[in-house]
Amino acid sequence: MIEFRWGSATDVGRVRQANQDQLLVAAPVFVVADGMGGHNGGEVAAAVAVDEMAKVDTVASVDDLIEAVQQANREIVDRSKLEPELRGMGTTLVALVGMMVGDSQRLGIANVGDSRLYRVADDGLVQVTEDHTLVEALVRDGRLTAEDALTHPQRNIVTRALGIDEKVLVDTWELGPVAGDRYLLCSDGLFGELSGDEIQDVLARVEDPNEAAIELVTEAVEAGGRDNVTVLVVDVVDAGDVDDEIPDDRIISIHKAVPDSVLRLEPPPETGPSDPHPDEIEVDRTIEKPPFVTWRLGLFVAAVLIVLAVLLSSVVAYARSSYFVGTDQDQVVIYRGRPGGVLWFDPTVEEPVVLSVSELDDEDLPDVIAGVQFDDLDDARTYAAALSERASTDEP
Ligand code: MN
Repeated sequence: MIEFRWGSATDVGRVRQANQDQLLVAAPVFVVADGMGGHNGGEVAAAVAVDEMAKVDTVASVDDLIEAVQQANREIVDRSKLEPELRGMGTTLVALVGMMVGDSQRLGIANVGDSRLYRVADDGLVQVTEDHTLVEALVRDGRLTAEDALTHPQRNIVTRALGIDEKVLVDTWELGPVAGDRYLLCSDGLFGELSGDEIQDVLARVEDPNEAAIELVTEAVEAGGRDNVTVLVVDVVDAGDVDDEIPDDRIISIHKAVPDSVLRLEPPPETGPSDPHPDEIEVDRTIEKPPFVTWRLGLFVAAVLIVLAVLLSSVVAYARSSYFVGTDQDQVVIYRGRPGGVLWFDPTVEEPVVLSVSELDDEDLPDVIAGVQFDDLDDARTYAAALSERASTDEP
């Protein structure tokens, strides 16, 4: 058996009201899950995923590992069906599992979504997993630079998550264990705040995995803490029986569920295009009732409410008076409303354009992702027609 030593830490951060991240430490199974979805959905999805992974007993191949992740996915999908208020919930999952493949000890890694697994190498941090995000797909296709991806407004859009479809696409890696190797599993709240060098610095300097995990989470929260932060540091203390030569990059095999260039996007949640940022900060939109104290206060509140109602109706008029060409999942569409919405009036899809995001001309892409605004629908249609004409024809 591979002998591990590990440490973990998690924090809600400075902005979010709840911690939707979950972690599992049940050697030889280690998991980080980052839940998404309102009404506690994110917490539930991540918790169900972790509970299912805790049931994993012996893993003899990456296929066993994929099946475990599929089982966790089915549990979340079933739960969404039972509790409609949780519909649309999902979670990322990254797992590191000690496996016995034939006569050899192996590390199995599974990934869905944008949580990550890194290996700490002498010359820096090596990201083993690949993010399943819109920006990652655009970078892979050469349509966005890695640098721009770091600050892209839509960097939180994940293209795969557990809990969305009956089957989930799982990427796996089979690695050879080497005594002294250190692995890091983390949610995006860590690498969204700290650079690879900053992360590497802590992991190389702090020997105790628990102290390293705590220090990383503390630094990420101090750097902004805009998301939940979860860190799991796993050290290989003893690699057990390893019969064969292990390559320098430790990788024995890689299994990716879809070819790199295929952009597979999450189906729209029940709310349609009004919630294109499932991983963004939840805003509480309930309006508080005025306190019931005195008639004077009552009158004052009534006057304020009338003023607000007048303001509100002009906001509605403003919010709905414009059109823009933008993206809905992987399709180009014309929205009624304003990019990003106005207050809580989200734009709605007015009509689709028969054009997918991946077909867009490189020069048009950033504009369309940001949303190109028009005062009337005909102008938006004219622009959409021009986009179609410029669209690249050499892509599928
Ligand atoms: Mn997150």
